[in-house]
Amino acid sequence: MKPAVVAHRGASAYLPESTLPAKALAVAQGADYVEHDIVMTRDNALLINHDLWLDEVSDVAEKFPGRARADGHFYVIDFDLDEILSLGVSSRFRVEDGVAVPAWPDRYPVWRGRFGFHTFAEELQFLAGLEHSTGRRVGIFTELKSPWFHEREGRDLVGAVYDVLARYGYRTPQDGCRVMSFDGHALQRIRDGVAADAGVDVPLTQLIGHTIDHEVFEHRTSGEWANVDVDWMSDPAQVGAIAEYADGIGPDVAMLLQGGAADSGLHASELAAAAHAAGMYVTPWTLRADALPPGASSYAEVFDILSGEAKVDAVITDFPDLAVECRSASA
Ligand code: CA
Repeated sequence: MKPAVVAHRGASAYLPESTLPAKALAVAQGADYVEHDIVMTRDNALLINHDLWLDEVSDVAEKFPGRARADGHFYVIDFDLDEILSLGVSSRFRVEDGVAVPAWPDRYPVWRGRFGFHTFAEELQFLAGLEHSTGRRVGIFTELKSPWFHEREGRDLVGAVYDVLARYGYRTPQDGCRVMSFDGHALQRIRDGVAADAGVDVPLTQLIGHTIDHEVFEHRTSGEWANVDVDWMSDPAQVGAIAEYADGIGPDVAMLLQGGAADSGLHASELAAAAHAAGMYVTPWTLRADALPPGASSYAEVFDILSGEAKVDAVITDFPDLAVECRSASA
């Protein structure tokens, strides 16, 4: 079975990430699924946005000066949906000396054209519209963005997402939705009750990152929120512990590779085989032609190892067109 192609935040190599045009292009390029991240607004709307904040892809700092938190970020959770929908959206940037510098210089330019934010429900309606007009199925990889953060803010992101999934008919493993999170506690909570309460039984993916990235925090009995150790998750010997509550793993693509140019060439690590042996699927993130994993020389080289040796079930990529091309080229 060749891997499914999952468009990371849409065809994000070509249009501003997460926007509906980026999703449309992904479908046009032949992606089987689109991936999206979900964050909650102050008035409990579910927004499609990668970050917990708005400032690296929008003009929030200009339109709402003074609304940043102490760390300088303008958090989605501090804005109502109508405020967020009034913002302009750009390709990702960082501000240096008052100037917007592109995060990806060779991708779609910053502040070119008119783009905006939209909600999770609007995304599902849009994809259903594309399914109707193209006659193709388009699945979703739905990432719960930092459930722990929403919990700390007194919100239930997980429950809200599951309500929307139920409302839009994503109820069984055959309905084309996989729910993902770096936050293993959230996945356990889904398995222990949220899913059944909502009547939504879709596969759960444990995303695997690095402890150093401070992606997941947990509430200790001492009252403090502490960074969670996640490095054990990429140890092939530990996949059984993940299989207790998840149906698959979504590791950093580099975790599925070993070796490299200086050695005997790049090969698959043991992680994918271990996960498959434990009955789990494997859907690595993120294959990028302009940011290849260490030791890799081309997009096609990495794709072929993931598809051939590692036998991954899906590839999450900013370049769905390249993945589709590599897939048709492979034997
Ligand atoms: Ca994501």
